[in-house]
Amino acid sequence: MTESSPYDILFEPVQIGPVTAKNRFYQVPHCNGMGYRDPSAQAAMRRIKAEGGWSVVNTEQVEIHPTSDIAPFIELRIWDDQDLPHLARIADAIHEGGALAGIELAHNGMNAPNLYSREIPLGPMHLPVAPDTIAPIQARAMTKRDIADLRRWHRNAVQRSIDIGYDLVYVYAAHGYSGLHHFLSPRYNQRTDEYGGSLANRMRLLREVLEDTLEIADGKAAIACRIAVEGEYGPNGVHREDIQGVLTELGELPDLWDFAMGSWEEDSLTSRFGPEGSQEEHVAGLKALTSKPVVGVGRFTSPDAMVRQIRKGILDLIGAARPSIADPFLPNKIRDRQLESIRECIGCNICVTGDQTMSIIRCTQNPSMGEEYRRGWHPERIKPKTSDARIAVIGAGPAGLEAARALGVRGYDVNLLEAGRELGGRVTLESKLPGLSAWNRVRDYRVLAIEAMPNVEVFRESPVSAEDVLEFGFEHVLVATGSTWRTDGVGRFHTTPIPVDGIEILSPSDILAGTLPAGQRVVVYDDDYYYMGGVIAEALRAAGKDVSIVTPSAQVSQWTMHTFEVGKIQRRLIEAGIVRHTDHAVVSAQPGEVTIASVYTEQHTRLEADALVMVTARLPKDELFTQLESHIGDSDLLTVRGIGDAWAPGTIAAAVWSGRRAAEEFEVDLKPNDDVQFRREVTALDPIWPGVTLQSTGAAK
Ligand code: ADP
Ligand code: SF4
Repeated sequence: MTESSPYDILFEPVQIGPVTAKNRFYQVPHCNGMGYRDPSAQAAMRRIKAEGGWSVVNTEQVEIHPTSDIAPFIELRIWDDQDLPHLARIADAIHEGGALAGIELAHNGMNAPNLYSREIPLGPMHLPVAPDTIAPIQARAMTKRDIADLRRWHRNAVQRSIDIGYDLVYVYAAHGYSGLHHFLSPRYNQRTDEYGGSLANRMRLLREVLEDTLEIADGKAAIACRIAVEGEYGPNGVHREDIQGVLTELGELPDLWDFAMGSWEEDSLTSRFGPEGSQEEHVAGLKALTSKPVVGVGRFTSPDAMVRQIRKGILDLIGAARPSIADPFLPNKIRDRQLESIRECIGCNICVTGDQTMSIIRCTQNPSMGEEYRRGWHPERIKPKTSDARIAVIGAGPAGLEAARALGVRGYDVNLLEAGRELGGRVTLESKLPGLSAWNRVRDYRVLAIEAMPNVEVFRESPVSAEDVLEFGFEHVLVATGSTWRTDGVGRFHTTPIPVDGIEILSPSDILAGTLPAGQRVVVYDDDYYYMGGVIAEALRAAGKDVSIVTPSAQVSQWTMHTFEVGKIQRRLIEAGIVRHTDHAVVSAQPGEVTIASVYTEQHTRLEADALVMVTARLPKDELFTQLESHIGDSDLLTVRGIGDAWAPGTIAAAVWSGRRAAEEFEVDLKPNDDVQFRREVTALDPIWPGVTLQSTGAAK
């Protein structure tokens, strides 16, 4: 950057104890479902963040000991020296990318069910493990010896982290995932010894661990403390006064304060439930209590909002997990004033579902996320074209837009043909539903990119038939025609149609197209379990209908437990006056009523209704693909591929990924599909076998 820019302030260096962050962009620790299982995939992902301009790139939480095992979730471990090569590879990769490497050391305390290690969980008190699991396991109240052990384990982990090159080491006391947070919190800590009761006592362990960490680090690495500023699962949690007290007492101990919420759920609000910068009210004013730099998050994607946080003295460093996932090159794009090319996070929390389902991270906006090592994808670069082929992409939803964009970047000539006037497909339609307006960013980023490419031509209001394709002589076609919601009730519960007669039946496709039920009383049937059932119910209620929602599941939109929304959705439905009938399936509908049955007893209940909205499953619009496929060999057509929902209905993230995959694989010699199509790491075998006496067989040592 040569001339001065309003964003210059974001590129000022920040001293963090013994190290210097080159700018104010700070990738806070974030989980990714890769952890100890996929260390090289993680290293490649973090390296790309560093390459994209983040001054500090952190790992996710790293369990310091087998008593801190949060299986089945897959994070990193620093239990002993065996774990160090993985962690060293990540640190090295971050350094190669040009950033400082941070490691978030964690002892999960009473949040660790220790399902893998089978150790007894450790907490301030005798309590069931919490908050992330309901396993029938109790934590044991830590003795003084346990406390001494914990401090030693942390010191060992700090030493190991520094030995393998980390520049910044965390003391973690947030999100309800850390024993230090549990000790701080009156909800979990009602001890009567010097570690419980007053705030001074509750923060004693935090102080001790901070002092230990400083002593071991001895100026060789910076010390960050991540602390819960507000909010917690349930009553009596950590409050503002507690945090003010901690900062007044311990404010000068670490080199950096990282402010987080008391639960990950509150820290990573989706855009449906919170705007950009929603943590500000909890964080504002805390910086004044320490001379050390502070970092916080807020799904920041707008450089103006970032500058405001700095100028108002709320934060020194702009923390980001999700914005750095959606666009690892966010800092460099702001530096280079390429604001229009920023891929803004849409706040959908699909990234969180990777971790929550113990699978590799994925992102709606950034299909290369998690695929950097596995498939060699990069968020900004893609291999150049290998021929002068011209490709027709039919359908401009998320799959078609991403395919056209990525093929365009490869340099191919692309014709993008869309039946409608508007681009964006389901994203354009769904973003009109309550709370989903930010989802439009999936379309906007891609449309802006395509508009700047002379080799990608967009044809609106161009419904394409198989005859059209053959007539135009297209040689390569991607069919991205999407899907339609079914109206016959087939989904998860019923796999054959439900008997319905004499009642208005609608699907989300109708409602998205602007049709409202004619009558007043509407039953929504959610057998889909993701967001659509709940959000359609909300939309109908907002349109003045009397709405009830029926689901065979225990909660409406059950799968949104993985996006941290399920509880908020129930609350919103209840507050809107929508009646929920959970554990029930719709079994039939007739004039004036819908019959539902308990999924456990099959007992029937009749609901008075004028209309039934089926939110059950979708059918791919794949006729065009099927017709075209039959013409390969008897026309100019050489290849045809179905992508996105037209191939198999799924998430928007899956559609974008599918479009990207088609673009990446175009004219590439792929391995036969008998082979695994991506790189992976397989656990290394212990060179000593059997290594122990197998007592049951009497095998030799
Ligand atoms: P996906 O999520 O797979 O991208 P969408 O349903 O969001 O699917 O988008 C599909 C898009 O394809 C819609 O915009 C739709 O108007 C368009 N489309 C469907 N059939 C045709 C067709 N025959 N010709 C051109 N466009 C089509
Ligand atoms: Fe943002 Fe969604 Fe990507 Fe997560 S998955 S980073 S919330 S766009």
